[in-house]
Amino acid sequence: MSLAEVRNWVFDMDGTLTVAVHDFAAIRVALGIPPEDDILTHLAALPAAEAAAKHAWLLEHERDLAIASTPATGAVELVRELAGRGCRLGILTRNARELAHVTLEAIGLADCFEVAHILGRDEAEPKPSPDGLLKIASAWGVAPSELVMVGDYRFDLDCGRAAGARTVLVNLPDNPWPELVDWHAADCRALRGLLG
Ligand SMILES: [Mg+2]
Repeated sequence: MSLAEVRNWVFDMDGTLTVAVHDFAAIRVALGIPPEDDILTHLAALPAAEAAAKHAWLLEHERDLAIASTPATGAVELVRELAGRGCRLGILTRNARELAHVTLEAIGLADCFEVAHILGRDEAEPKPSPDGLLKIASAWGVAPSELVMVGDYRFDLDCGRAAGARTVLVNLPDNPWPELVDWHAADCRALRGLLG
């Protein structure tokens, strides 16, 4: 299958469609999370009241980042090209759905994604779980193998592989995970070039 034949596209958001701005090390310090721990996994294991307070802090912190988002190189043109070709478009993010919408508005792409096809950390198990990707495939009535998952991080690729989807790595100059990646492009402009 060539990339131009793919009709069903799911994107990670932060660092994929936007310039990455999350300082995860600073977030861990602010929330008292050990450096080696996954943030969402750590919060999920806390007592309910503490987890709620820390989730609220995280949401406010990420809201400020979302409002100030800027598009990654070529991201707007890529998504508009795919929308123009009639492709189905979705977002699977470890951010919150509400903030995904704020982010997409900030970079001028909110009209390209239906809210129902934007899955955040409250709509699906966070990546690397394949849960969200499988939910999107089901909603679209397609086999997971007909989807591509586009992302900038290993969790995106692990999620895609676990779901049985194709995977695209963007926004890294080199590909550190060749066994997890079907297509690699240095940025979304180069990825658009792969569409032919
Ligand atoms: Mg990312």
